[in-house]
Amino acid sequence: KLSKRLQTIADRVTAGARAADIGSDHALLPVYLVQTGKCPSAIAGELNDGPLQAAKRQIAEAGLAKAVAARKGNGLAVLEPGEADTVTIAGMGGSLMAEILETGRLAGKLEGVRELVLQPNVGEELVRRWLFEHGYVLQGEWLLEEDGKLYEVLRALREADSPTDVTNAEVYDPAFLPADMDAERKRCWLFRMGPYLLRQRAELLPEKWRQEHGKLKRIRAQLEQSELAESRGKEAQLREEMEAIEEVLSCLQ
Ligand code: SAM
Repeated sequence: KLSKRLQTIADRVTAGARAADIGSDHALLPVYLVQTGKCPSAIAGELNDGPLQAAKRQIAEAGLAKAVAARKGNGLAVLEPGEADTVTIAGMGGSLMAEILETGRLAGKLEGVRELVLQPNVGEELVRRWLFEHGYVLQGEWLLEEDGKLYEVLRALREADSPTDVTNAEVYDPAFLPADMDAERKRCWLFRMGPYLLRQRAELLPEKWRQEHGKLKRIRAQLEQSELAESRGKEAQLREEMEAIEEVLSCLQ
């Protein structure tokens, strides 16, 4: 049985897709997708030997060596162009995820990939921006809690193939933020909080940003103890950021 987090990702993968899970670790997700018949085949990509061996063991134990391939490599380098319909990447920071997607795109590895299901641990904004800038349209966002941690799952389709014909301009509609907020700020918050999560007033969204606010508050308290002059500047920046979060939180209540 998959964890709630991995199950949420698995449920978003289109049935029948040839999947590639990048940074797969134990290959739980690709094994599940093929074992349940949701996907005909899958690739588990791993950069590191330990997780790669764990992936190979998992695949062998499931008796799926013919349908699930474990490959060693950096990001999307494990893929041949046109080999996968859906790419999943989970459990890493948004900045690494955006870097993997960009390097892969430049190497032509995303050709033929119509669906991306992504679960960044932090830095979701960077992933949304990458998707937006490269012709992928968000189709949905999910915010879930597991073992006291909050996770976001993003599903995007390549604009050219998007069956719902929803455009990025429609997805990033600023109407879901207070009318008196300036346009640039609205845009920034849509990328940070997630246009679907905002629109749906996702139940856990205020909690997520309260936690974020709490983190900044703790850092600020540490800075207050510091005698370094540069700490004052950082403190001021943090205060501004905290006020911005408070402003957005107040519109979510
Ligand atoms: N995707 C699994 C999940 O969500 O449960 C595993 C997440 S694990 C925290 C991150 C994995 O990504 C590690 O196994 C790590 O070795 C792998 N990884 C990190 N950077 C990578 C890269 N550039 N290319 C492929 N795999 C990478």
